[in-house]
Amino acid sequence: MRAERAKVAVRGTVQGVGFRPFVYRLATQMKLNGWVLNSAQGVFMEVEGDRDLLQSFLLRLEKDKPPRAVIQNLEFSFFNATGYDHFEIRYSDPSGQKMVSILPDIATCAECLREIFDPENRRYRYPFTNCTNCGPRFTIIEALPYDRPHTTMKRFKMCAACDHEFHDPCDRRFHAQPNACPRCGPRLALWDSRGTVLAEEEEAMVRAIEIVRQGQILALKGIGGFQLLVDARNANAVQRLRARKRREEKPFALMYPSFDLVSRDSDVSELEARLLLAPEAPIVLIQRRSTASQIVPEVAPASPSLGVMLPYSPLHHLLMRDLRIPVVATSGNLSDEPICISEYEALKRLEGVADYFLVHNRPIVRHVDDSVVRVVWNRELVLRRARGYAPLPVHMKTTLPDILAVGAHLKNSVALSVGKEIFISQHIGDLETSEAFSAFRRTTADLPRLYEAEISVVACDMHPDYLSTKLAQNMQAPLHQVQHHFAHVLACMAENELEDPVLGVSWDGTGYGTDGTVWGGEFLRTDEESFRRVAHLRQFRIPGGAAAVKEPRRAALGVLHEIWGNNLMIDPRLAPVVSFSDSELLVIRRMLSKGINSPLTSSAGRLFDAVASILGVRQRVTFEGQAAMELEFAILSATDEAYSFGISSSSPSIVDWAPMIAEILIDLQESKPVGIIATKFHNTLSEIIVAVAREIAVPDVVLTGGCFQNRYLAERSIRRLSEVGFKPYWHQRVPPNDGGIALGQVVGAARSALATPQPKGAEV
Ligand code: ZN
Ligand code: ZN
Ligand code: FE
Repeated sequence: MRAERAKVAVRGTVQGVGFRPFVYRLATQMKLNGWVLNSAQGVFMEVEGDRDLLQSFLLRLEKDKPPRAVIQNLEFSFFNATGYDHFEIRYSDPSGQKMVSILPDIATCAECLREIFDPENRRYRYPFTNCTNCGPRFTIIEALPYDRPHTTMKRFKMCAACDHEFHDPCDRRFHAQPNACPRCGPRLALWDSRGTVLAEEEEAMVRAIEIVRQGQILALKGIGGFQLLVDARNANAVQRLRARKRREEKPFALMYPSFDLVSRDSDVSELEARLLLAPEAPIVLIQRRSTASQIVPEVAPASPSLGVMLPYSPLHHLLMRDLRIPVVATSGNLSDEPICISEYEALKRLEGVADYFLVHNRPIVRHVDDSVVRVVWNRELVLRRARGYAPLPVHMKTTLPDILAVGAHLKNSVALSVGKEIFISQHIGDLETSEAFSAFRRTTADLPRLYEAEISVVACDMHPDYLSTKLAQNMQAPLHQVQHHFAHVLACMAENELEDPVLGVSWDGTGYGTDGTVWGGEFLRTDEESFRRVAHLRQFRIPGGAAAVKEPRRAALGVLHEIWGNNLMIDPRLAPVVSFSDSELLVIRRMLSKGINSPLTSSAGRLFDAVASILGVRQRVTFEGQAAMELEFAILSATDEAYSFGISSSSPSIVDWAPMIAEILIDLQESKPVGIIATKFHNTLSEIIVAVAREIAVPDVVLTGGCFQNRYLAERSIRRLSEVGFKPYWHQRVPPNDGGIALGQVVGAARSALATPQPKGAEV
């Protein structure tokens, strides 16, 4: 097995507790090479060795750490080995710049947890307990430096006992800015849907638990905003939440009272367990057991996996310990809107959604959703980057100008470079509603203000109609537009510290191409400043344009029309054909043959849609990516077979999927199981990637774009590329979907700014 390098950052109580000698002993004992270093921001290390050894090193780093060490945040990514020949303790350069670093919100630590369940402790059952090692951070900071007067805790004057802890260097709460206790800190209240106070403190908690048990919908003000809680065993309650939230089928996340209960319902791997229990406490997508009987199907219809998290604040711990049941814990919003942060806003926006509101009087400065991760190829892959992760930076090798990137349109996040760091904002969401757009505008102002940046370039997408592009155009600084799929590739390169050239396999639903058509099945070869589109999937028309993304059956007709022209109605039994009426078919046929409102696309996401429709898996979707997701769920990985495809020798090469579609239709005619066809389809996509990689012959291959949220596609492509001698790279702590675009935009703008220095105030 080829050696890899793990880069690890540990934040928390890791200084002056013997952490570095411990790391040294552990590494040398395990025969791993590299170094460890202490700095103002924490302990950093690079460790090289076999992947399996590195994984167990990381696990032991947490398990066997010195007794007084507390890890608030353990961040790691994997890179190519550089060839260290021994392990050493390095000394930090005291002249090195002290980069202000704002920590993410950190899940309740073990000691605070003990205190809130200890009847003898003065914080017994206090829902806002925290210490230097845990508690809210990013969600309460108004400005830097991170001192109490700069947080929303400024309105609470510490009592004598808290003040003493705060000033005692030997206390766990020495300089714990959000320090609080039942005497002096924030308080809990239960409101009805009109905002009338029904109960306070302990009584509020007791009644909130009853409310959930009775199947009603509780809005809970958490760390980064409101969550909606409902009994996950109660089909009616979950159904009512779906109707009220206007969320038809998209899976809901769950919060379980304990890890033991999670492992009773799901198969949890060692790494998944680590993620569930990590200080980031994200939602982890895990495989449910068929015997997971208590979770009603309405929670995640048609899904073999569950999105699960564990309690991460004292309030959650107290509630869940007494509830003793898994609950749906979903963002407090209507579909596609950002999460509510203030109780008055929540009363208004969640009117008719929540029955009761469990609130407190500690203001939240910025919305931060629960993060979502899944394990791919035995590594963490972040799908939604928010609580616990934002705003931690991606570290670059060179100093960048201050660049603000405004991201894409869906799953928006923004990014900002300061020095060698690129800070990535929390997930904002789809810029489809006015609420989302104002959250986006707040965040574009918030990040530069927090880090005192002087924006020299604003980076955005090339799509002329994106609201993010329009906002960027109206900003004062010079504009730099970065092609969408190139931004995906640059994000993945930055995260993996890769240099040019790479072959970027950038596959997603949609992105504006340099030729004005819709791209999405792209192979880009990077060079110093820019990229060359070396290959792409064969284009086809989507009848109905952008609105058709809700109807995979339209993509199917587009694909069939591309192959057989107007003879597409030849097989009237095909699922997409059956789903339309005769008159609808006539209209669509005319649209396709005349090219009316039927834009051309090379999108891999739409090809997934087309195949899902042809297989009868799904004709219409209620959320983005649903058809592709269900096609992934359909996989029966019982075959290594793949379908045929062609690659033209033109420039760019065109990958022709028509032979694959023809063979799929034959398999259908022969009544092959859908699970087998779905598997062969995924296998074909991996073979396409391998074939193009061979054609282009660049050793480093980057897999990026929303399609690589698909675990089967990602893992199979990684495996196949490695087998034939390529080095595959994929995302880890930055999402492969459009949540990673802003990072890539910063890098894209920096490349051209560093190549050709722009005078300030240059032409926009
Ligand atoms: Zn704590
Ligand atoms: Zn106090
Ligand atoms: Fe994209």
